[in-house]
Amino acid sequence: MNVILLGPPGSGKTTQAQLLANRLGACTIATGDLLGDAVQNDTELGREARQYMDRGEMVPDKIILSLVGEQLAVPEAAKGVILDGFPRTVRQAQDVNRMLAAQGKRIKAVVLLDVSEEELARRRLAKPSTEERSDEDPAAIQRRLAAYRSSNAPLVGHYRELGVLKIVSGTGTLEQVADEIKRAVGG
Ligand code: AMP
Repeated sequence: MNVILLGPPGSGKTTQAQLLANRLGACTIATGDLLGDAVQNDTELGREARQYMDRGEMVPDKIILSLVGEQLAVPEAAKGVILDGFPRTVRQAQDVNRMLAAQGKRIKAVVLLDVSEEELARRRLAKPSTEERSDEDPAAIQRRLAAYRSSNAPLVGHYRELGVLKIVSGTGTLEQVADEIKRAVGG
């Protein structure tokens, strides 16, 4: 089963994507993590992506699509993929649809993890930063949120029109949210 998880930075999307993947026997494709690894390994792609990531801006589609294309081709992806942090633009949504269709696959559901701005701010204050991420300073976080807001609305509209959008409250315990997501995707 192929599922897309949407939600703002700090919504718990990555944790939920992993839980859902475990429950469904699928694997996750998290573009933020893939980019982080590329930066860490100082690959050519990582060096290019880093300029955007450090500013909290979107990495160009070309880079993202080549990363995702590689991941969709691995044998484990045959059992299903949970897309985390991707697509973020309507263009990326159309491209992933095309890539999946070429493999005879489709997206079963798109889940929007709904967490209010107040709750996101509360979580940020409650969780001191442990990672040394250069995009974790408050200004970069604000830019990531702004990038999310401007790109997410058209994306949500796109999936709503296609009739595949499910909205799940991201406020609750990990298990409660995981159960809701599982119910929403019908898995
Ligand atoms: P994340 O950990 O998902 O918040 O991603 C960290 C950073 O990676 C984002 O702030 C973007 O710069 C970049 N990024 C991750 N996924 C995408 C995507 N699908 N499209 C464009 N940029 C992305």
